Amino acid sequence: MFGRVPKRSDNSKYYEVLGVSKNASQDELKKAYRKAAIKNHPDKGGDPEKFKELAQAYEVLNDPEKREIYDQYGEDALKEGMSGGGGVHNPFDIFESFFGGGGFSDHGGFYGRKKQGEDVVHTLKVSLDNLYNGTTKKLSLSRNILCPKCKGKGSNSGKTVKCYGCQGSGTKTTTRQLLLGMIQRVQQVCPDCRGSGEVVHERDRCTHCKGKMVVQEKKVLEVHVEKGMKHGQKIVFPGAADEAPDTVTGDIVFVLQQREHPKFKRKFDDLYIEHNLTLKEALCGFKFVLTHLDGRKLLVKTDPGQVVKPGQYKAINDEGMPHYQRPFMKGKLVIHFNVEFPESGALSSEQRQSLKTIFPAKQSSDMDVDVCEETVLHDVNMDEEMRRKQRQRQYEAYDQDDDDDDEPDMHRVGCNQQ
Ligand SMILES: [Zn+2]
Ligand SMILES: [Zn+2]
Repeated sequence: MFGRVPKRSDNSKYYEVLGVSKNASQDELKKAYRKAAIKNHPDKGGDPEKFKELAQAYEVLNDPEKREIYDQYGEDALKEGMSGGGGVHNPFDIFESFFGGGGFSDHGGFYGRKKQGEDVVHTLKVSLDNLYNGTTKKLSLSRNILCPKCKGKGSNSGKTVKCYGCQGSGTKTTTRQLLLGMIQRVQQVCPDCRGSGEVVHERDRCTHCKGKMVVQEKKVLEVHVEKGMKHGQKIVFPGAADEAPDTVTGDIVFVLQQREHPKFKRKFDDLYIEHNLTLKEALCGFKFVLTHLDGRKLLVKTDPGQVVKPGQYKAINDEGMPHYQRPFMKGKLVIHFNVEFPESGALSSEQRQSLKTIFPAKQSSDMDVDVCEETVLHDVNMDEEMRRKQRQRQYEAYDQDDDDDDEPDMHRVGCNQQ
């Protein structure tokens, strides 16, 4: 191989992880690993990351070939050599092979050896009423469980035989050509037994699961949606996902998805509604009945003399969303008021006249209409206006004259139309 002299990368980290010198003997390495691995084993409350690092360092330095590559070229060279070959091993396997199996657990097995099963995630659609009142949803799901007849062994006799493909080790070793003519052995999970090291004789295959070790089960889950839960919140059923041999069963996770409510909007623990008032109601007071999310009827009203302005917000305390896990505490119910004005022409001249007597005329400093220019007000659809301007801007994109202050000038002039 010409021209592929590998870059030197860090080649001291593994020694530091194990706490040994670079010329440590095989024996010293073993001792260092034994001490540190026991101390940092997750079964004993150790840090899993540290445990993994130790295993990785030991795996490399304990192998004379790998140690040589590491000493010469560093970590990256090893990673290159191992890429795609499944070179990274389970730290628990390394620990177990070091201590000859058994581990710390009492029941012989070694939980760390088990694979972690996948979590199953579902979205669960709920209404705002559901989140306000709380509800229970029953959901029927089917999942894999370990075959009850063969207890997940796959055989009638409960026996398995050593996998022929890997001789029971669960892994297959292949040889790969590495840099500069060096050879590296790479271990892979055995495809015949999927790493279990065991297979079932064809004649001994469990009739219930047909040797698949798992069967489907229908299950009804009761999902309790609690008062005050939020859009996006997760409800977890630990260990309720698909079972598989030698696997820690994953969780079933429901993610709440709140449907839009036609009237109420939620912001944190507050509820918002829009309410339209007539101009008369805005000026003279109003009352209306609001049906809440739990069906209660609320009487919403103004005190005498209160005026509500267009766009104004008013709030009612303790009629918002219940707080999650403290449902007796509630947020606010905020009402956003729109005021509907009468249409042009709706008022007769007598009505206008009587309104003028109620509302005094605006006093303007220069009411000399004779010196003002006449203008005409017309209706404008601002959305349409903005779209038109946007199109115009696209056409003028090449134009370098930066004359884009084309918003209409809205200076107030002292001319009041009488
Ligand atoms: Zn095998
Ligand atoms: Zn079975």
